[in-house]
Amino acid sequence: MLDLLLPQRCLVCGAGGTPLCAACRARLPPLTPPLCARCGAPTAWPVARCRECAGRRLAFASARAALRYDEDVRRLVSAWKEQGQRGLAEDAAALVADVVARPAAVLVTFVPADPGRRLRRGYHPAQRLAESLARRWQLPCEPRLQRSGTSRRQRGLSLAERRRNVRGAFGSAPVRGSIVLVDDVYTSGATANAAASALRAAGAARIEVVTFARAIRFSH
Ligand SMILES: [Zn+2]
Ligand SMILES: [Zn+2]
Repeated sequence: MLDLLLPQRCLVCGAGGTPLCAACRARLPPLTPPLCARCGAPTAWPVARCRECAGRRLAFASARAALRYDEDVRRLVSAWKEQGQRGLAEDAAALVADVVARPAAVLVTFVPADPGRRLRRGYHPAQRLAESLARRWQLPCEPRLQRSGTSRRQRGLSLAERRRNVRGAFGSAPVRGSIVLVDDVYTSGATANAAASALRAAGAARIEVVTFARAIRFSH
């Protein structure tokens, strides 16, 4: 309710009106092809595997995102998490749907909230994004994953620590067929991979990871 009463400000530049103004929206950095077909990293030409994912066993078939995770996008996502801006899920879903084709899937689900993170009035951006995308794609959206371990938040951990931290961190209710797994940001891929592993173990045939933004670790 409170969201409706507070004056809306652009989370990137602070201009009044909407949580993401038209000028900032137009300046957000799209993640455009060529990409690695598997992990979605930008590459010099289309490849089946890239430097970032070669040699890694990934539980998901592909990962796609709307935006590069640069400073503006980081500010936007952290404000989205802290302030729980409801209008933003629709903007984020529109940006994702612009670049990610509707997956051939039977269900959309999402990565559950970080352990220890206090959700502002229960608002979880990954869930809102998943729900909004599912509506656009006319697919059901349901929670399937739970945090099962005692993993810490990923922020501030090294790549190796991230992978170790989330291994076995998720459990999943039974699933079948192709699943779309939604999260807000793909950073190292460790969280998406651990969540996808749990879905696979619970019966999923194939998993497509879809996120709002993706960190770029190598420049090609
Ligand atoms: Zn703005
Ligand atoms: Zn790759």
